[in-house]
Amino acid sequence: MAIEDIAILVVAAGRGARAGAGLPKQYRVLAGQRLLTHTLRAMLRAIPSGPLLCAINPDDRALYDACIADLSAAERARIMPPAAGGATRQQSVRAGLEQLAQQSQAKKYVAIHDAARPFASDLLVQNVIRAAREFGAAIPGLTLTDTIKQVDTSGSIVASPNRDVLRGVQTPQVFELKLIHAAHVKASAQSRDDLTDDASVATFAGYDVHVVDGDIANLKITTEADLANAQTRLAPPLTDIRMGQGYDVHAFGPGDHVWLGGVQIPHGFGLVGHSDADVLMHALTDAIYGALADGDIGSHFPPSDQQWKGAASDIFLRHAVGRVAERGGRITHLDGTVVCEEPKVGPHRDAIRARLAAITGLDLDRIAIKATTSERLGFTGRKEGIAAFGLATIRLPESNT
Ligand code: MG
Repeated sequence: MAIEDIAILVVAAGRGARAGAGLPKQYRVLAGQRLLTHTLRAMLRAIPSGPLLCAINPDDRALYDACIADLSAAERARIMPPAAGGATRQQSVRAGLEQLAQQSQAKKYVAIHDAARPFASDLLVQNVIRAAREFGAAIPGLTLTDTIKQVDTSGSIVASPNRDVLRGVQTPQVFELKLIHAAHVKASAQSRDDLTDDASVATFAGYDVHVVDGDIANLKITTEADLANAQTRLAPPLTDIRMGQGYDVHAFGPGDHVWLGGVQIPHGFGLVGHSDADVLMHALTDAIYGALADGDIGSHFPPSDQQWKGAASDIFLRHAVGRVAERGGRITHLDGTVVCEEPKVGPHRDAIRARLAAITGLDLDRIAIKATTSERLGFTGRKEGIAAFGLATIRLPESNT
């Protein structure tokens, strides 16, 4: 479907007092990003080209700028300088429409969307656009499942309207830009500033508005309970708890130091390996890959590739940590054991933990490092090399939801 002729107008000028906590709700942080950022992303994805304009309260400019800064460069390139909103939603929309209508290459259609609806799906948006192309004006509306009552000011029921002919309407509402702009000008000229959505403005001005099926998931975040619900949807709980193990060995060779957990330890020998032979870091890195069921160091950094020759092993560990983050998870614990007769690891334990904490971003109390000899038995007992075991515990979102 062609979408080149649509501009997006996001109404973000409200003060959102109902959601509490002082900050306007569109600027509250959910799952690491502000609500407005989530909403902008959803709309930029659903309508993958064309400009997006926000109407904001100028007092909130710094908060707005923070939302835009969290977008990708490609997303930011589509964002117009914001319009200054007014005292009511209707005035804010009108200010945005003026700005869009004045553009030298004004779009034919505009999708007007609430900043507090971060869950508008691509399908919903496209269905509304399709209807707007046919009818000139279209909005999503939900059929009602609850029985509806009309009450008087004392709370007594005065009527039971037929819910079959009622709809709970949502955004985005899509209009021909000239139509909705003219409707807002007319409403303003007649001092009607109490209209709570743009379909009301259009029908006030005499235009037909078509209603398509809304989406119950397209929640408008209004209350603290809505915010908590949205937080869960945007950042699923990390209930998939996994452990992984890693094991590594490197042989002693000529040299005057070894690397263990990113710390250089003086020794009469070095460790032989393709990279810096940091046996402990390799074991811990493989433990993380193991918990992810995501291969091992060798599959991500093939020894045949000369670019890893002599590499500092923190690049491997950083990569594994990044793979966890990409899956929306986090590492909760790393536990390493070094097996050798020499050098003594104990004196370096806290330096190693601090170095691993710096690389992984974990708290120090989530990193355990232990050392043991093998009682002079086996290859480690004969001082032919060092072995290391790693364990990683990670948490991921449930992947089957
Ligand atoms: Mg190794």
